[in-house]
Amino acid sequence: MRRTELIRRLDRLAGFPSPRAADEQVRTPAEAAAEMLLEAAGRDDLADRVVADLGCGTGVLSVGAAMLGARRVIGIDRDPAAIALARENAGSLVARIDLREGDVASFGETVDTVVMNPPFGAQRRGADRPFWETALAVARRAVYAFSLSDSRSFIERRAVERHARIELCRPVAWMLPRTFPHHRKPRVPLPVDLWVLRTGAP
Ligand code: SAH
Repeated sequence: MRRTELIRRLDRLAGFPSPRAADEQVRTPAEAAAEMLLEAAGRDDLADRVVADLGCGTGVLSVGAAMLGARRVIGIDRDPAAIALARENAGSLVARIDLREGDVASFGETVDTVVMNPPFGAQRRGADRPFWETALAVARRAVYAFSLSDSRSFIERRAVERHARIELCRPVAWMLPRTFPHHRKPRVPLPVDLWVLRTGAP
């Protein structure tokens, strides 16, 4: 699928109607989601693969992964409202997207690929930690994730500890729309990186 078509389809999905600030329920912008998913497709980590989307929220990454041919996607979120929303957004792809309510820390199934847009730790320091722990523990092939650029050294350390190889760490364009009451401006640019960590044998 072409990039513009993927962005158009992802952009049509519904966002969080009342996002929870404590959980940093910020929807991944369609452009950034497409950039991650096409990177994963290009590295042979999506088509026919089993994919986990940790903190799936609206389900944008799950739906995109299924659109690009993932055999099965497991989307996990601890917020039941997010799971219901993701189910709605999954539409006709729902047969291939297994949506589960739960904490990512207790997810232990091995998958080929993890995709995730975890909380950036802006509200609660360390909120992203269980995501990286689980991702690096369950992904047989690779982890695709977004993170604030000030988390670079933390992620690099995690990667070394778990014997993962950093294939990519590239800044992506990310405009954060006004989402929570404490946001003052209509939109602010965030310094976000797209990461690709190779977890299996090289
Ligand atoms: N990728 C999604 C959501 C990003 S926001 C999208 O683009 O729409 C992060 C999501 O992680 C939120 O939906 C939040 O409910 C969920 N979350 C936060 N901490 C979690 C945890 N420990 N376990 C499971 N889900 C969690």
